[in-house]
Amino acid sequence: MKKDDCIFCKIANGEIPARTVYEDDKFRAVLDLGPATDGHTLILPKEHADNLFDLPEEYAKELIPVAQKIGSMMKAGLKCDGMNLVQNNGQVAGQTVMHFHLHLIPRYENDGQRIGWKVGERTDEEFDAIRKRIVG
Ligand code: 5GP
Ligand code: ZN
Repeated sequence: MKKDDCIFCKIANGEIPARTVYEDDKFRAVLDLGPATDGHTLILPKEHADNLFDLPEEYAKELIPVAQKIGSMMKAGLKCDGMNLVQNNGQVAGQTVMHFHLHLIPRYENDGQRIGWKVGERTDEEFDAIRKRIVG
């Protein structure tokens, strides 16, 4: 289903123009309007899903092959030195547009970007307790 008030539904379905680098029956990939680096691309499903946990399995299972295809096109065309795949779920995780999207961010030597987190520390007991909370 498409969502009427969702900008990425409109972009994915071609109702709002965007610089498309790839399209098939399920996905459209477009250049991000606020690029971290040259070639920063977003893969958008044509069906609305708020986030990863909402993404239908038929889309989820095609996503990584599509990312490989687009990533390869980007590597060949942009001659980047590496690539970050980033995917934010929920406001607290940095998601600003509530339609699932996978960022493909080409990286270049000395591009001055910083994508990451502060490295933490936990005791053995803390790790064990955290693991238990996940697996039950
Ligand atoms: P998020 O923070 O939700 O993971 O990423 C949203 C991304 O969408 C941002 O990188 C932002 O620059 C990009 N963006 C927001 N609005 C538009 C738009 O209208 N068109 C395009 N192409 N990108 C957008
Ligand atoms: Zn949407």
